[in-house]
Amino acid sequence: MKRLASADRVFILTGAGISAESGIPTFRGVNGLWRNYRIEEVASPEAWHRDPRLVWEFYSMRRRVAAAAKPNAGHFALSKLGDTIGDKLLLCTQNVDDLHEQAGSRNVVHMHGELFKSRCDTCSRPPFPDSETYDPPAEIPRCHCGGRIRPHICWFGEIPFHMDRIYENLQRCTAFIAIGTSGQVEPAATFAAAVGDHARSIYIGPEEPANASTFTEVILGKAGDVLPSLLDGGD
Ligand code: NAD
Ligand code: ZN
Repeated sequence: MKRLASADRVFILTGAGISAESGIPTFRGVNGLWRNYRIEEVASPEAWHRDPRLVWEFYSMRRRVAAAAKPNAGHFALSKLGDTIGDKLLLCTQNVDDLHEQAGSRNVVHMHGELFKSRCDTCSRPPFPDSETYDPPAEIPRCHCGGRIRPHICWFGEIPFHMDRIYENLQRCTAFIAIGTSGQVEPAATFAAAVGDHARSIYIGPEEPANASTFTEVILGKAGDVLPSLLDGGD
């Protein structure tokens, strides 16, 4: 495996860019605006309180786009890495699609939630699988407690999921690889700076991320082109 030794503990962080070649638009790319709304304006607790129908319209649209997408060579290369090094790999994604799972990766940590799960906005009922689309004029679905069913997504201003496990693994890893993430959304943007002194850090994507100076190495290219040879090219 190029650049990785068999003893390495690997932390992979993926962002919207790894799903771009599967046809799911990134937020800050050309499709960064949705119906003239900035993403921050439809993906926040304030938006949910102001207009839950608009929020469900947005996530229903995203469910339809994601349901039609298939994993690409980048997702498959990471799944193969998991098969090779097992629990020495943590695959942490900011993506809410399920393309890593579709490619065969196990134990994926979705720090920003999952598009195909919903939860109650009031009670502590655990998130549940849900691929329905709730386009207006349908009513906002209700929980048996009377609360409203919302997407299981970490919105702007909310705390990402699984942070204890993530920071524990950042401290222990010997190689950190970030793929297709613009380095502008916290806390993921500071993960490269949070790895221990002993760890190497690599960024992979077609353009330099905002936090490029915190990486040991930046490899410019598309995930689907770079990852298969990087992870499987022999040493
Ligand atoms: P972002 O939209 O801010 O940045 C995407 C990055 O991907 C850019 O730096 C771009 O250069 C890079 N990129 C584009 N094409 C690529 C390719 N083929 N290979 C590798 N990299 C490529 O996305 P982000 O940093 O992940 O952050 C913002 C938020 O976007 C996250 O909260 C995430 O939840 C959300 N998001 C998720 C999805 C999804 O689930 N697929 C889609 C859009 C946004
Ligand atoms: Zn409830």
